Amino acid sequence: MDPLDKLTEIFKKFPGIGPRQAKRFVYHILQETEEDIGDLINSISNIKRGISICDKCYRYYENKNKHEVVPCPICINNSRDHSTLMIVAKDIDLLAVERSRAYNGLYFVLGNTVPILDEEPHKKIRQGELLYRIDELTTEPSKLKEVIVATSVNTEGEHTAFYINTLLRPYVEKHGFKITTLGRGLSTGTELEYSDGDTLKSALENRH
Ligand SMILES: [Zn+2]
Repeated sequence: MDPLDKLTEIFKKFPGIGPRQAKRFVYHILQETEEDIGDLINSISNIKRGISICDKCYRYYENKNKHEVVPCPICINNSRDHSTLMIVAKDIDLLAVERSRAYNGLYFVLGNTVPILDEEPHKKIRQGELLYRIDELTTEPSKLKEVIVATSVNTEGEHTAFYINTLLRPYVEKHGFKITTLGRGLSTGTELEYSDGDTLKSALENRH
C-alpha cells in the first residue's frame, strides 16, 4: 500500500474521523518539519509508558512509578465524597465533569456505551468490574449512598443508562443506595464531553 494511503487508513480508525479528514491529517504531517514529525513520533511511542489504568475507576492516569499498582489520585483522595459514584462512558466524559468542578465524588469509567439491540452488552462495557466496585464501595465505612449514571443525552447514551439501571436494580434493593441520572440542563443530542461547565453543573444539580 502506498505510504499516503497507509497513514490515511490509520487516521480513519480515530473516533469521529472520516476519510477526508484522515487525508487532511496526512497532508498536514507532510508539511511539518522533520523536528515536528520527530516530536510526534516520540509522543506517540511514549504515550503508554507512564500511563496506567486505575484498578478502581478504570480511567487512564499518569503513574510515574509503573511498577507499583496504586489507584489513581481521584480514587485515593480522602477529601472526595466516597459515598457517591458517577458512572461515565469514557475518560473524556470524566474530564468534562472534572473541568466543571461541580462534582466531588468518585467515578467509574465503563469504557464504552451499550448499542441498542446488542446481543452481548456485557462484553461492550466493564460490567463485571463495575459490579465488583459497587460491592466494594458498599462495604467501605463511608457506605455508597448514590450512583449517578452520567451518559450522553443521545440514543446510545440513554440506552446505556437504562441498561445500567436494570443491572444495578438488585444492588439497590440489597444495599439501599439510590440511582440518579443527570437532569434536563443537558439538551437532547448533547454529548457529555462537549458540554460546558455551567451546563454540567446545572445538569448535576437537577439530577433525579
Ligand atoms: Zn481511579
